[in-house]
Amino acid sequence: MKLAAFRSGGRRRVGVVDERAGKLRPLAFDDDLAQQGVLAAVAYAAHGLALPEAGAPLDLKAVALEAPVPRPPRNIFCVGKNYFEHAHEFAGSGFDSSAASGAVPEVPIVFSKVPESVTGPGQPIWVDPAVSTAVDYEVELTVIIGRGGRSIAPEDALDHVWGYTIVNDVTARDIQGRHKQWLLGKSLDSYCPMGPWAVTRDELDLGDTTVRTWVNGELRQEANTAQLIFDVPTIIATVSHGITLLPGDLIATGTPAGVGIGFKPPRYLKAGDQVRMEITGIGVLENPVRTYAEETVPA
Ligand code: MG
Repeated sequence: MKLAAFRSGGRRRVGVVDERAGKLRPLAFDDDLAQQGVLAAVAYAAHGLALPEAGAPLDLKAVALEAPVPRPPRNIFCVGKNYFEHAHEFAGSGFDSSAASGAVPEVPIVFSKVPESVTGPGQPIWVDPAVSTAVDYEVELTVIIGRGGRSIAPEDALDHVWGYTIVNDVTARDIQGRHKQWLLGKSLDSYCPMGPWAVTRDELDLGDTTVRTWVNGELRQEANTAQLIFDVPTIIATVSHGITLLPGDLIATGTPAGVGIGFKPPRYLKAGDQVRMEITGIGVLENPVRTYAEETVPA
Protein backbone atom coordinates (compact mmCIF):
# COMPACT_ATOMS: atom_id res chain seq x y z
CA MET A 1 0.00 0.00 0.00
CA LYS A 2 1.16 3.52 -0.83
CA LEU A 3 0.30 6.28 1.65
CA ALA A 4 0.74 10.00 1.09
CA ALA A 5 0.47 13.15 3.18
CA PHE A 6 -1.16 16.04 1.36
CA ARG A 7 -2.90 19.39 1.88
CA SER A 8 -6.54 19.84 1.14
CA GLY A 9 -8.83 22.65 2.29
CA GLY A 10 -6.03 24.14 4.39
CA ARG A 11 -5.59 20.91 6.36
CA ARG A 12 -2.98 18.20 6.29
CA ARG A 13 -4.51 14.84 5.41
CA VAL A 14 -3.32 11.32 4.72
CA GLY A 15 -4.53 9.13 1.89
CA VAL A 16 -4.09 5.85 0.07
CA VAL A 17 -2.49 6.30 -3.35
CA ASP A 18 -3.63 4.39 -6.45
CA GLU A 19 -0.88 5.48 -8.81
CA ARG A 20 -2.21 3.58 -11.81
CA ALA A 21 -5.64 5.23 -11.53
CA GLY A 22 -4.10 8.59 -10.62
CA LYS A 23 -6.27 8.71 -7.50
CA LEU A 24 -5.85 9.23 -3.77
CA ARG A 25 -8.44 8.22 -1.17
CA PRO A 26 -8.30 10.31 2.06
CA LEU A 27 -8.29 8.41 5.34
CA ALA A 28 -10.50 9.53 8.22
CA PHE A 29 -7.77 10.46 10.73
CA ASP A 30 -8.55 13.33 13.08
CA ASP A 31 -6.63 16.55 12.40
CA ASP A 32 -4.13 16.08 15.24
CA LEU A 33 -3.12 12.62 14.09
CA ALA A 34 -3.02 13.68 10.42
CA GLN A 35 -0.39 16.29 11.38
CA GLN A 36 2.05 13.38 11.65
CA GLY A 37 1.53 12.42 8.02
CA VAL A 38 1.87 8.69 7.36
CA LEU A 39 3.06 8.19 10.95
CA ALA A 40 -0.68 8.29 11.72
CA ALA A 41 -0.94 4.96 9.87
CA VAL A 42 2.20 3.70 11.61
CA ALA A 43 0.55 4.46 14.97
CA TYR A 44 -2.60 2.59 13.94
CA ALA A 45 -0.51 -0.41 12.87
CA ALA A 46 1.47 -0.30 16.14
CA HIS A 47 -1.82 -0.63 18.04
CA GLY A 48 -3.06 -3.42 15.77
CA LEU A 49 -5.83 -1.20 14.40
CA ALA A 50 -7.18 -1.33 10.86
CA LEU A 51 -6.86 1.94 8.94
CA PRO A 52 -9.96 4.17 9.18
CA GLU A 53 -12.35 4.14 6.26
CA ALA A 54 -11.14 5.97 3.17
CA GLY A 55 -13.33 8.62 1.59
CA ALA A 56 -14.18 9.45 -2.02
CA PRO A 57 -11.15 9.41 -4.31
CA LEU A 58 -9.41 12.67 -5.22
CA ASP A 59 -7.40 13.34 -8.34
CA LEU A 60 -3.75 12.74 -7.43
CA LYS A 61 -2.67 15.57 -9.73
CA ALA A 62 -5.06 17.99 -8.02
CA VAL A 63 -3.63 17.66 -4.49
CA ALA A 64 -0.47 19.20 -3.04
CA LEU A 65 1.64 16.31 -1.78
CA GLU A 66 3.75 16.86 1.33
CA ALA A 67 6.66 14.84 2.69
CA PRO A 68 5.13 11.58 3.98
CA VAL A 69 6.64 12.43 7.38
CA PRO A 70 6.55 16.24 7.26
CA ARG A 71 8.20 16.67 10.68
CA PRO A 72 9.90 13.54 12.01
CA PRO A 73 9.61 13.26 15.81
CA ARG A 74 13.39 13.23 16.12
CA ASN A 75 16.53 13.32 13.99
CA ILE A 76 16.69 11.10 10.93
CA PHE A 77 19.35 8.40 11.29
CA CYS A 78 21.54 8.17 8.17
CA VAL A 79 24.17 5.71 7.01
CA GLY A 80 27.27 7.05 5.22
CA LYS A 81 29.36 5.29 2.55
CA ASN A 82 27.13 2.23 2.20
CA TYR A 83 27.69 1.30 -1.48
CA PHE A 84 31.19 0.14 -2.54
CA GLU A 85 31.60 2.44 -5.55
CA HIS A 86 30.35 5.48 -3.67
CA ALA A 87 32.68 4.71 -0.73
CA HIS A 88 35.62 4.88 -3.15
CA GLU A 89 34.47 8.02 -4.97
CA PHE A 90 33.91 9.83 -1.67
CA ALA A 91 37.18 8.68 -0.06
CA GLY A 92 39.01 9.97 -3.16
CA SER A 93 37.27 13.37 -3.08
CA GLY A 94 39.40 14.98 -0.37
CA PHE A 95 36.24 15.88 1.57
CA ASP A 96 36.00 12.65 3.54
CA SER A 97 36.99 13.21 7.16
CA SER A 98 36.57 9.45 7.75
CA ALA A 99 38.83 8.40 4.83
CA ALA A 100 41.86 7.77 7.08
CA SER A 101 40.16 4.59 8.29
CA GLY A 102 39.84 3.27 4.71
CA ALA A 103 37.42 3.78 1.83
CA VAL A 104 35.07 0.92 2.70
CA PRO A 105 33.92 1.08 6.33
CA GLU A 106 34.16 -2.02 8.55
CA VAL A 107 31.07 -1.01 10.50
CA PRO A 108 28.23 1.30 9.45
CA ILE A 109 28.94 5.04 9.70
CA VAL A 110 25.87 6.66 11.23
CA PHE A 111 25.05 10.36 11.46
CA SER A 112 21.80 12.32 11.54
CA LYS A 113 19.84 15.15 9.97
CA VAL A 114 17.60 17.48 11.99
CA PRO A 115 13.81 17.03 11.48
CA GLU A 116 13.41 20.64 10.30
CA SER A 117 15.49 19.91 7.18
CA VAL A 118 12.59 17.88 5.71
CA THR A 119 10.77 19.26 2.70
CA GLY A 120 8.18 17.77 0.36
CA PRO A 121 7.92 16.67 -3.26
CA GLY A 122 8.10 19.58 -5.69
CA GLN A 123 9.40 21.94 -3.01
CA PRO A 124 12.67 23.80 -3.69
CA ILE A 125 16.08 22.76 -2.44
CA TRP A 126 17.39 26.18 -1.41
CA VAL A 127 21.00 26.96 -2.25
CA ASP A 128 22.59 29.94 -0.51
CA PRO A 129 26.05 30.82 -1.88
CA ALA A 130 26.82 32.66 1.39
CA VAL A 131 26.45 29.32 3.21
CA SER A 132 27.69 26.67 0.75
CA THR A 133 29.01 26.51 -2.79
CA ALA A 134 29.20 22.71 -2.89
CA VAL A 135 25.61 21.42 -2.63
CA ASP A 136 25.27 17.76 -3.58
CA TYR A 137 22.44 15.23 -4.04
CA GLU A 138 22.22 11.69 -2.59
CA VAL A 139 19.28 9.38 -3.35
CA GLU A 140 18.55 7.00 -0.46
CA LEU A 141 16.13 4.23 0.32
CA THR A 142 14.76 5.20 3.73
CA VAL A 143 13.30 2.85 6.32
CA ILE A 144 10.27 3.82 8.43
CA ILE A 145 10.26 1.91 11.71
CA GLY A 146 6.87 0.47 12.69
CA ARG A 147 7.59 -1.43 15.88
CA GLY A 148 10.14 -0.02 18.31
CA GLY A 149 12.81 -2.01 20.07
CA ARG A 150 16.26 -2.00 21.63
CA SER A 151 19.19 -4.13 20.50
CA ILE A 152 17.14 -5.71 17.71
CA ALA A 153 18.68 -8.87 16.23
CA PRO A 154 19.30 -8.77 12.46
CA GLU A 155 17.05 -11.79 11.93
CA ASP A 156 14.14 -9.95 13.61
CA ALA A 157 14.86 -6.53 12.11
CA LEU A 158 12.45 -6.57 9.17
CA ASP A 159 9.56 -7.29 11.58
CA HIS A 160 10.24 -3.80 12.98
CA VAL A 161 9.93 -2.10 9.58
CA TRP A 162 6.61 -0.47 8.69
CA GLY A 163 7.66 0.68 5.25
CA TYR A 164 9.92 2.78 3.07
CA THR A 165 10.22 6.13 1.33
CA ILE A 166 12.79 8.10 -0.71
CA VAL A 167 15.05 10.72 0.86
CA ASN A 168 17.43 13.05 -0.93
CA ASP A 169 20.27 13.40 1.62
CA VAL A 170 21.29 16.83 0.31
CA THR A 171 24.78 17.69 1.54
CA ALA A 172 26.92 20.83 1.67
CA ARG A 173 30.29 19.17 0.92
CA ASP A 174 32.33 22.19 2.00
CA ILE A 175 30.63 22.29 5.42
CA GLN A 176 30.80 18.50 5.73
CA GLY A 177 34.58 18.57 5.16
CA ARG A 178 35.27 21.63 7.29
CA HIS A 179 33.44 20.47 10.42
CA LYS A 180 34.44 16.75 10.34
CA GLN A 181 31.14 15.68 11.91
CA TRP A 182 28.48 15.60 9.22
CA LEU A 183 25.38 16.97 11.00
CA LEU A 184 25.80 20.64 9.99
CA GLY A 185 26.44 20.04 6.29
CA LYS A 186 23.50 17.61 6.12
CA SER A 187 20.90 19.59 8.09
CA LEU A 188 20.51 22.91 6.31
CA ASP A 189 16.96 24.13 5.64
CA SER A 190 15.35 22.11 2.82
CA TYR A 191 18.22 19.58 2.73
CA CYS A 192 15.95 16.56 3.25
CA PRO A 193 13.44 16.27 0.41
CA MET A 194 11.25 13.23 1.13
CA GLY A 195 8.54 11.44 -0.83
CA PRO A 196 6.60 11.32 -3.00
CA TRP A 197 4.86 9.02 -0.50
CA ALA A 198 5.62 6.00 1.68
CA VAL A 199 5.02 2.34 0.87
CA THR A 200 4.38 -0.51 3.27
CA ARG A 201 7.21 -3.03 3.53
CA ASP A 202 5.43 -5.71 1.46
CA GLU A 203 5.74 -3.45 -1.64
CA LEU A 204 9.53 -3.70 -1.81
CA ASP A 205 12.02 -6.48 -2.58
CA LEU A 206 15.14 -5.35 -0.72
CA GLY A 207 17.20 -7.87 -2.69
CA ASP A 208 16.32 -6.23 -6.01
CA THR A 209 15.31 -2.59 -5.88
CA THR A 210 16.74 -0.02 -8.29
CA VAL A 211 17.75 3.41 -7.04
CA ARG A 212 18.33 6.26 -9.54
CA THR A 213 18.94 10.00 -9.78
CA TRP A 214 18.71 12.34 -12.75
CA VAL A 215 19.81 15.97 -12.73
CA ASN A 216 18.22 17.97 -15.54
CA GLY A 217 17.30 14.71 -17.24
CA GLU A 218 20.85 13.28 -17.11
CA LEU A 219 21.16 9.95 -15.28
CA ARG A 220 23.73 10.41 -12.49
CA GLN A 221 23.12 7.60 -9.98
CA GLU A 222 21.96 4.06 -10.69
CA ALA A 223 22.39 1.09 -8.37
CA ASN A 224 20.54 -1.77 -6.77
CA THR A 225 19.88 -2.21 -3.06
CA ALA A 226 21.47 -5.66 -3.44
CA GLN A 227 24.77 -3.72 -3.60
CA LEU A 228 24.45 -2.20 -0.12
CA ILE A 229 27.58 -2.86 1.97
CA PHE A 230 25.41 -3.11 5.11
CA ASP A 231 21.90 -4.38 4.44
CA VAL A 232 18.74 -3.10 6.13
CA PRO A 233 18.70 -5.75 8.93
CA THR A 234 22.36 -4.99 9.77
CA ILE A 235 21.64 -1.25 9.82
CA ILE A 236 18.64 -1.67 12.15
CA ALA A 237 20.66 -3.94 14.45
CA THR A 238 23.48 -1.36 14.52
CA VAL A 239 21.34 1.72 15.17
CA SER A 240 19.25 -0.03 17.85
CA HIS A 241 22.30 -1.36 19.69
CA GLY A 242 21.59 0.20 23.09
CA ILE A 243 19.35 2.89 21.57
CA THR A 244 15.62 2.21 21.72
CA LEU A 245 14.14 2.72 18.26
CA LEU A 246 10.63 4.16 18.27
CA PRO A 247 7.74 3.71 15.84
CA GLY A 248 8.14 6.42 13.21
CA ASP A 249 11.93 6.58 13.36
CA LEU A 250 13.50 7.07 9.94
CA ILE A 251 16.76 5.52 8.75
CA ALA A 252 18.28 6.58 5.42
CA THR A 253 20.39 3.69 4.16
CA GLY A 254 23.11 5.49 2.17
CA THR A 255 23.64 6.58 -1.41
CA PRO A 256 25.29 4.90 -4.42
CA ALA A 257 28.04 6.28 -6.70
CA GLY A 258 27.36 9.18 -9.05
CA VAL A 259 27.02 12.08 -6.62
CA GLY A 260 28.31 15.48 -7.78
CA ILE A 261 31.53 15.25 -5.81
CA GLY A 262 32.46 12.05 -7.64
CA PHE A 263 32.97 13.96 -10.91
CA LYS A 264 36.19 15.75 -11.84
CA PRO A 265 35.57 18.60 -11.59
CA PRO A 266 32.64 18.15 -9.18
CA ARG A 267 29.15 18.85 -10.50
CA TYR A 268 27.28 20.48 -7.68
CA LEU A 269 23.66 21.60 -7.70
CA LYS A 270 22.90 25.14 -8.83
CA ALA A 271 19.77 27.27 -9.01
CA GLY A 272 17.60 26.21 -11.93
CA ASP A 273 18.52 22.52 -11.70
CA GLN A 274 15.82 19.86 -11.45
CA VAL A 275 16.58 16.75 -9.37
CA ARG A 276 14.60 13.58 -10.07
CA MET A 277 14.97 10.47 -7.91
CA GLU A 278 13.28 7.13 -8.45
CA ILE A 279 13.21 3.95 -6.41
CA THR A 280 11.36 1.07 -8.06
CA GLY A 281 8.35 0.03 -6.01
CA ILE A 282 8.12 3.46 -4.36
CA GLY A 283 7.90 6.22 -6.97
CA VAL A 284 9.52 9.44 -8.15
CA LEU A 285 10.67 12.36 -5.98
CA GLU A 286 11.35 15.60 -7.86
CA ASN A 287 12.63 18.91 -6.53
CA PRO A 288 13.78 22.11 -8.21
CA VAL A 289 16.88 23.92 -6.97
CA ARG A 290 16.40 27.62 -6.21
CA THR A 291 18.53 30.44 -4.86
CA TYR A 292 17.77 31.10 -1.22
CA ALA A 293 16.09 34.43 -0.60
CA GLU A 294 14.68 35.23 2.81
CA GLU A 295 11.39 36.59 1.44
CA THR A 296 10.63 33.47 -0.63
CA VAL A 297 11.26 30.83 2.03
CA PRO A 298 8.19 29.88 4.04
CA ALA A 299 8.73 30.07 7.82
MG1 MG B 1 23.81 10.05 2.50
